Amino acid sequence: MSTDFPTGAGTERTGTGPAAGSAGSAGSAGSAGLKPTPRSRVRAWLRGPHETAFDVAERQVPEALAARNLAGARQSVYWWDTAEAPEALPAFGAPGAQAGPGANTADLAVVGGGYTGLWTALMAKERDPDRDVLLLEGARCGWAASGRNGGFLEPSLTHGDSNGEQHAPSENARLRQLGAANAREIAATIERYGIDADYRASGELILASEPHQVDELRAEASGTGQEVLTGAALRARVDSPLYLAGLFDPDASAIVHPTRLAWGLRRAALEAGVRIVEHTPVRGLDQPRAHGLRPVRLRTDGGDVVAQQAVLATNVFPSLIRRLRRYTVPVYDHAIVTEPLTPEQEAAIGWAGREGLADMNSRFHYIRPIDTPEGLRILVGGYDAHYHFGRTLRREYEHSPATARRLAQHFAAIFPQLADVRFTHSWGGAIDTCSRFFSFFDLTCGGRVASAAGFTGLGVGATRFAANVMLDLLSGERTELTELEIVRKKPIPFPPEPLAWLGIRTTTAAMIRSDRNRGRRGPWLRAMDAVGMGFDS
Ligand SMILES: Cc1cc2nc3c(=O)[nH]c(=O)nc-3n(C[C@H](O)[C@H](O)[C@H](O)COP(=O)(O)OP(=O)(O)OC[C@H]3O[C@@H](n4cnc5c(N)ncnc54)[C@H](O)[C@@H]3O)c2cc1C
Repeated sequence: MSTDFPTGAGTERTGTGPAAGSAGSAGSAGSAGLKPTPRSRVRAWLRGPHETAFDVAERQVPEALAARNLAGARQSVYWWDTAEAPEALPAFGAPGAQAGPGANTADLAVVGGGYTGLWTALMAKERDPDRDVLLLEGARCGWAASGRNGGFLEPSLTHGDSNGEQHAPSENARLRQLGAANAREIAATIERYGIDADYRASGELILASEPHQVDELRAEASGTGQEVLTGAALRARVDSPLYLAGLFDPDASAIVHPTRLAWGLRRAALEAGVRIVEHTPVRGLDQPRAHGLRPVRLRTDGGDVVAQQAVLATNVFPSLIRRLRRYTVPVYDHAIVTEPLTPEQEAAIGWAGREGLADMNSRFHYIRPIDTPEGLRILVGGYDAHYHFGRTLRREYEHSPATARRLAQHFAAIFPQLADVRFTHSWGGAIDTCSRFFSFFDLTCGGRVASAAGFTGLGVGATRFAANVMLDLLSGERTELTELEIVRKKPIPFPPEPLAWLGIRTTTAAMIRSDRNRGRRGPWLRAMDAVGMGFDS
């Protein structure tokens, strides 16, 4: 137990009334006895009427405690320290790379070596072992989102069922079935190729941290036979004073070691005969003038690749098809990982089921166990998300000390028993947010170039589905997948700057306010819902 833990941070919260404390008690002009100015009134309005449990946590858990617990944390991806990195493959046209006839041609060129590209390349070979497939990766396979995510492998193809209901009501039921089948296929592939991805069908415990969320959980559970856990029953499952209720869904998620999944797919693709070049950014794609009649040409520093067909699996990075760039914006998400817990610390939080945990706030946290021979580690991520003006992507954005500190404060409030536990890793990564919050598709160049992007932070499972969609699109056949509305229709594009920045800032502020106003969606969020840019996971 921490000695310098503040009184009250670990206290029990009850299931009714607003969260402990109030905006007014946190030092507003009103509480100080001063006359509220128009400015302070606007600020108070923007802040929202009630503090959330996590606002309280930030007030009660000293930043100094969080800073101390993070002091030894390396700014690097935990997963990379616990997977054996495969040797880099030579760049296209470099010494050691394949040379001679056929080296610069392919039946199918795949640009991008994250999950989307790797699944596409592997499944293209599975569909037709004679197809000559070349994958071109700008850096190393799996270095980006696919190697640094939380490892929640969810069946949902639509970033949650209610988001699917909102954006694709007519086919949501079918999408649920396709998503479940896709998740089963991922598990089967991992098994088939012996991929050491620590796959575990863990299920997920969805947690209410605010009183109004308890009602939402009850509504969600009604008629399903699932039980909403509260009080002692909940604390027997995961011993936190912060959560008011929980609903366990055994099918909501599995968990994986994300990097090992990416590198395992890379190995499987190589063994299936896919040619892979790394450190090969594709600089441009020439669209043939006589659409459909000529192959596509991909420009790299080592020469051109001439491909009959191409798949663009470049996620958050600028698409080689310029008009697709307006559909996504990069948003940085962050995570921290604890040191291994001692057996006593482990026992203090229960969590025998070791399921993934996620709360119900608009800005939600994801928390998952990582079993190691040295003991249980815990990963906490999410909550803050950062967009940088001009859709910029920079390595320095992967580190946000303020967000890491905030996550550490929240962790100490979730598990006050672990307030002394230190963190060893802290990192972030960019997610390709689109306005409907799940992937969109494109087919161009006379049916020769397919793209998928827009996974918005839920792509561990959905990328395999997207790969299948793209292969179907390139087949020229009409299939069930090519006829889906979510495949034929694109989301609303983001406007240019400064409107994109202003819109994202306004939406973020509205989400924060909604969390502080018992989940009520204010005028801005309702307007976003009305135009088809709302999010309801
Ligand atoms: C911190 C974080 C946590 C997340 N947690 C989860 C989670 O728990 N569950 C979940 O489902 N999803 C999660 N996600 C999202 C998930 O990781 C992504 O949706 C998924 O990995 C996307 O895979 P991808 O292959 O499309 O993209 P990436 O993995 O980003 O791969 C794209 C690749 O394309 C390459 N590339 C780009 N442009 C070019 C070019 N011109 N030439 C050559 N190569 C190029 C890049 O170098 C990169 O390797 C998270 C993401 C982040 C960042």
